[in-house]
Amino acid sequence: QKRNPNEPEFQQAVYEVLESLEPVVEARPELEKNGIMERIVEPERMFMFRVPWVDDQGKVQVNRGFRVQFNSAIGPYKGGLRLHPSVNASVIKFLGFEQCFKNSLTTLPMGGGKGGSDFDPKGKSDAEIMRFCQSFMTELCKHIGQFTDVPAGDIGVGGREIGFMFGQYKRLRNEYTGVLTGKGLSYGSSLARTQATGYGLCYYMKEMLAYKGTSFEGKTVAISGSGNVAIYACEKATQLGAKVVTMSDSNGFIYDPNGINLDVVKDIKEVKRGRIKEYAERVAGSTYTEGQRPWGVKCDIALPCATQNELNEENAKALIANGCKFVAEGANMPSTPEAVAAFQAAGVFFGPAKAANAGGVATSGLEMSQNSLRLSWTFEEVDQRLHDIMVNIFHTCITAAEKYGHKDNLVMGANIGGFEKIADAMLAQGVC
Ligand code: NDP
Repeated sequence: QKRNPNEPEFQQAVYEVLESLEPVVEARPELEKNGIMERIVEPERMFMFRVPWVDDQGKVQVNRGFRVQFNSAIGPYKGGLRLHPSVNASVIKFLGFEQCFKNSLTTLPMGGGKGGSDFDPKGKSDAEIMRFCQSFMTELCKHIGQFTDVPAGDIGVGGREIGFMFGQYKRLRNEYTGVLTGKGLSYGSSLARTQATGYGLCYYMKEMLAYKGTSFEGKTVAISGSGNVAIYACEKATQLGAKVVTMSDSNGFIYDPNGINLDVVKDIKEVKRGRIKEYAERVAGSTYTEGQRPWGVKCDIALPCATQNELNEENAKALIANGCKFVAEGANMPSTPEAVAAFQAAGVFFGPAKAANAGGVATSGLEMSQNSLRLSWTFEEVDQRLHDIMVNIFHTCITAAEKYGHKDNLVMGANIGGFEKIADAMLAQGVC
């Protein structure tokens, strides 16, 4: 706390991980002797920079850009870029820290990083978005590269923004490399990257359900968010036989007792870039509730897919009272520590973000592989690899938790499973 004052999100993420690593530290004294814990919570480096851009009225605006290069023990830094007014050093550090363990769990050679800006893309024209992205990349390009640091999308950064940034990188560096993932299909993306986090989340949940002898078939699912992760989680959960009844944005949530019609959601969010409340105006029988989150509805499964700390203890208790038995996190750290404790105390099977939403970065890793090979795999091939990676992550978590005496605790399993590979690499590479 003394070392990182005013960084509550980062402190929260570090406490959660360090607490669950206690049994590993006890069992492996070489970790303490080599300062692994002290080193792993300190980013290798972090950049903060001015991002000036000109708005449509000709006025200069200034935002702040960030990139944290957290840990490169097992591969080049890898992690998304977030554009949202809530972005600050604490948020970027928490995301970068979590990313290290998530990337490790995928088994692909990727270190951890994260970046972004407090720029708010809402209500901006395409030209403003482009000028911002170009300015942002003008500084960022000095610090990234296909063998150094490979950013991707996150909140507020989709195909359009990645395209503008990729174009600027290419122009400044005069090289065509896989320096960003989440690109457009015509210039180096991987098929299935758009779907990957949401699909991967459902593949992870499918394993959680199977482990408890059940499946998605006939289950009712509450999803929050209506962005990239939420949309494709909704699509896959529905394909696997479940009924998704909620989606949301930062203004409120929709409830459709007949199951969300995803064509309407995609039209509102992906085509018109509108607000989720339009759904209730277009689909008979559905409702929109302003200013609330979707955690008060009856459901078997909850998939929080919006943002950090969007599900608190009170929300968790409401879900438990409404019969929810399974939760997996699509967003990063959407559940507060109190909510996680409430779930675990009530016997809800809980899948933490760094395992459950690792499908996005895993497929980014597959995009990097395809870029290096100068090849592209089919949708089915990438989807199959994604599926197998998610199944493998689930079993890594279950095995790691059991090994250290915490059977079925996926939070501990994910932290331990992700940590041990990084720690072993750091030990092998000496004090650096
Ligand atoms: P998008 O920008 O596509 O969507 C974000 C969604 O969350 C929107 O519906 C947004 O609503 C909502 N949201 C954002 N802030 C808040 C808030 N303060 N309160 C309530 N709702 C909010 O982002 P993604 O879907 O890509 O990302 C969602 C989460 O998943 C993030 O935590 C991200 O880090 C994580 N993630 C994403 C991956 C990916 O591949 N995309 C990979 C792994 C994790 P509004 O429009 O009102 O802002």
